[in-house]
Amino acid sequence: MKVYFDNNATTPLHPEVKKELTAAMEMFGNPSSMHSYGREAKANVEDARIRVARFIGAHENEIVFVGSGSEANNTVLSLFVCSSRQCIPGLKMRNTIITTKIEHPCVLETSDCLAHRGVKVKYLDVDQYGKIYLDQLDSMLDDSVGLVSVMMANNEIGTMQDIAAITEMVHERGAYMHTDAVQAVGKVPVDVGAFGVDFLTISGHKIYGPKGVGALYVKNGIPYCPFIRGGHQEKGRRAGTENTLGIMGLARAVDMRVLEMDDEHQRLLVLKQALRKGIEERIDDIYFNGHPTDSLAGTLNVSFPGAEGEAILLYLDLEGIAVSTGSACASGSLDPSHVLLATGVDAERAHGSIRLSLGRESTMEEVDYVLDVLPRTIERIRNMSTAYIKGGLHATSR
Ligand SMILES: *Cc1c(COP(=O)(O)O)cnc(C)c1O
Repeated sequence: MKVYFDNNATTPLHPEVKKELTAAMEMFGNPSSMHSYGREAKANVEDARIRVARFIGAHENEIVFVGSGSEANNTVLSLFVCSSRQCIPGLKMRNTIITTKIEHPCVLETSDCLAHRGVKVKYLDVDQYGKIYLDQLDSMLDDSVGLVSVMMANNEIGTMQDIAAITEMVHERGAYMHTDAVQAVGKVPVDVGAFGVDFLTISGHKIYGPKGVGALYVKNGIPYCPFIRGGHQEKGRRAGTENTLGIMGLARAVDMRVLEMDDEHQRLLVLKQALRKGIEERIDDIYFNGHPTDSLAGTLNVSFPGAEGEAILLYLDLEGIAVSTGSACASGSLDPSHVLLATGVDAERAHGSIRLSLGRESTMEEVDYVLDVLPRTIERIRNMSTAYIKGGLHATSR
């Protein structure tokens, strides 16, 4: 049996997206060309823009198509170091960014880079469930803060933040608000009007659309500066010939989210509950990471002290089960997850954690299979780790 429980890393294309892309494959016109080939491509891009905008309650001229969620996040943070004439004097005078310790690496590394270029960056702590402290945000917000960037849902532990409340505080202090909503859009209702955010990031491949395409919402009237320069595409907001097929695929993926999201949410809650209960009943000495309720329906992060996450991943892979340790971006390094560490988990528990992320194709049969394989996998790994003493001194296996 093959089980793909790594939907937070990426998702398979929705069959309807595949159909759309296959049909559009012959269409190669450059949307900037004025002849019929170009006009056809342009019409498809603009139609996609309307559908993506509508999905998040935005106006179509507030959507900028970009090359990835990472690019959208880089774009927003980099507004601070833009030095062209288009750049916003307001942001220049407010030279501080506030973000969190649990953001995706594309936010954290960009922030770190900006910190070396004269921008002041402050990092919000999170509690044991991964929620930021609103009073800490309140105390950090002063007249120097230009932008606050807080992710809507965390990719590793699934914890969701109260973006509407955060945005209200941020606006009261005259700063702009960005949220990386890559893991939230298409899973929970997202309405930019209700949240009030100024910038919001979407990625295609996390919602059964194509890789290499994303959308950035930029509220009308908000200062903006392109990150990729050199062309008039996207009304001068993102240069480079449009990824026409990717954009059409993203819009089709969004259409399908509209139809499937609510039922899927309920279904995933049931599957996750079964998985959680099964793990609890069958395996000793475990810890669930993330918020018990304010969390993505399909995301379950669990620690097995005495068993290394990498070992669990590889053994499960041999049985046809795909999961991840922390974040895909962090695998390849043996550093414990920055997200788990931020929630106060010690390094050993962080090393022994895996993320199971379910999606639209996940079934109860797959959950049962994982519940069959996982207990003996953990037992086997723990047995190899001679230093593992249940509930006591946990030395990691090597
Ligand atoms: C995947 C992910 C990104 C990056 O999106 P890409 O399109 O892969 O660049 C950013 N933020 C979060 C929370 C993600 O899960």
